This record gives sequence, structure tokens and C-alpha cells, in this order.
Amino acid sequence: MTITKQIMQAFIDAISEAINAHQSRLNALDSELGDGDHGTTISAGFDAAVERIHEAETPAQVLQITAKTLMNRMGGSSGALFGTLFQRAAMTVKDEATVSAEQFAAMWQAGLDGVVMRGKAQPGDKTMVDALAPAVDALRQAVDGGKSLLAALEMAADAAENGAQSTADMQAKYGRARYVGERAIGHVDAGAQSVALMFAAMHSYWKDNAHGEA
Ligand code: ADP
Ligand code: MG
Repeated sequence: MTITKQIMQAFIDAISEAINAHQSRLNALDSELGDGDHGTTISAGFDAAVERIHEAETPAQVLQITAKTLMNRMGGSSGALFGTLFQRAAMTVKDEATVSAEQFAAMWQAGLDGVVMRGKAQPGDKTMVDALAPAVDALRQAVDGGKSLLAALEMAADAAENGAQSTADMQAKYGRARYVGERAIGHVDAGAQSVALMFAAMHSYWKDNAHGEA
């Protein structure tokens, strides 16, 4: 099983659709802890990416265009962080025509490493890392264990959603939410919820278009 340019484009389309559908919920989450703009900015970022990814010639270029567009259109700290996620992922797969399941797991690992290097947040700090780190672990374990990409994406999506939900019990050390202190407890982090939506969107796309996989 390999991921072609067309599949990578379809993943970005699916992510954009899911983020758009949850835009107001993401804004509501961010308004509890931050400035209430997360849904609006991340939707605008992925909308702009969808408009440009048809120019890509390889899966890596799909990720690269997405990275640049998120950085330019989202702005702020989260634009840099979500941009870094896709940029590091793109660098990992170089300019090959297809991406294997192993490379797919490795690219998200590299993306996570880039986000942690740039943003300094660790698991438990109530950020997007709390959804991304468990998703990456689940993906890697599933792929290493010889699971299908469908099963791997399902496990990653579940791990990301559980990770996002777990942020409700955390106090923030990074981002605007750090000013909220204990009032942050009880609220899910918006960036973590976006990451969970990303993996859920890729999983449901793959489930509906199984590409010959069981
Ligand atoms: P802004 O804070 O600039 O308004 P957004 O509202 O778009 O940006 O995004 C906020 C999200 O960014 C948070 O919910 C959190 O998940 C993520 N975030 C903020 N700072 C960091 C950081 N240092 N490391 C990782 N993620 C972070
Ligand atoms: Mg915000």
C-alpha cells in the first residue's frame, strides 16, 4: 500500500472539510482559553491550501504547499506550529512519487519533533502536542506491527481524540491559555482538537475509499 499525490491531496481536502465543519466549535474552545480565533484561522489556512495543492507534482509537494499556506494564512504562533508540522513531514518524504505506510508514520513523527522543537511544549502542557504525540505513537506501533493503513489510521484517530479530550484535565504552560491558569481545567485545547479532527478526517477518507485495502 502506498500513498500517491492524489491520496495526499484527498487527505488535505478531507482535513479542510472536517475543520470547516467544526470551525465554530474550535472558536468556542479557543475562546475559553485563548482569543477565540483558532477555528477561523485554521479553516482559512486549510481552505487556502486546498486551492493550491493541485499545483503539486508529488506527495511531498502537497505537504510543502500546505505548510507554506498554513504559515502565511494562519499567522501567529499556531500558524508557525501547524506549518512546521507539515513542513517537517514534507522534508521526510523528499520528492518520491509515493509514500509507504512506514514513511507515512515517519513523516508525522518528524512533524511532531519539529512542533516540539519550535514550540517547546511537552505532552501534558495542554497543546496540540497532547493529540499529536499519541497519534504518532499509535501510527508507528500499528505500522511496525504490520497493520493495514486503515487500521493504523483508525488507531491514530482514536489516540488523537483521546489525547485531545485528556487536555481538559490539564493546565496550560504555553500559548495564550497559560494566562488562564486553573480556569483552563475542564476545557479541551483547541489546537489538540484540530489535530484530532485531522486524523479523524484522514481515517474516514481512507475508510470510504479503501484503495484496495481490507
Ligand atoms: P493563537 O494562540 O496565536 O491565537 P490559535 O488560536 O490558532 O493561535 O491556536 C492556539 C493553539 O495553538 C492552542 O490551542 C495550542 O494547541 C497551540 N499552541 C500554542 N502554543 C503552543 C506551543 N508552544 N506548542 C504547541 N502548541 C501550541
Ligand atoms: Mg487563538
